[in-house]
Amino acid sequence: MEWGLKDIGLAKELVRGLGVTLRHLFSKPVTIQYPTERREPFDRFRGLIRWDQEKCVACVLCEHYCPVKAIDIVTGEDEQGKKTVLHYQVDAIHCMLCGFCVEICPVSALSHSHHYELAVYESRDAIFAQERMAGDPPITRYR
Ligand code: SF4
Ligand code: SF4
Repeated sequence: MEWGLKDIGLAKELVRGLGVTLRHLFSKPVTIQYPTERREPFDRFRGLIRWDQEKCVACVLCEHYCPVKAIDIVTGEDEQGKKTVLHYQVDAIHCMLCGFCVEICPVSALSHSHHYELAVYESRDAIFAQERMAGDPPITRYR
């Protein structure tokens, strides 16, 4: 059998393909065994919204600008007559982690946490009221 140019080209491609296979055979896998293993998100990862009650000035801009109305705020007055937040909550089912509220907040009271495991069995568990939003929200781990 005589080898033509086409056969030589095919053989070259075959060797090149095998080379790629061999290279990956000895390289570290990029996959991880979730949920037993978890990868730390990048610093700019947009996880569930975190609210800082100390900083919040009750301007309600975040609620107003949220495109899906996931934020619910009840405001009132404290003993000194100053406007304050009586209740603050985020509905994680509707929140699409767009970050509009974080950007619009004039006092940087909102930020993204690294919390991404938002699956719940009951929809009411997806309501993150102020008690659950202080600091890093508690993570529901299923394993
Ligand atoms: S991240 Fe977007 S969708 Fe979620 S609460 Fe903020 S503005 Fe609304
Ligand atoms: S925009 Fe910021 S300061 Fe205004 S209500 Fe929302 S969290 Fe509070």
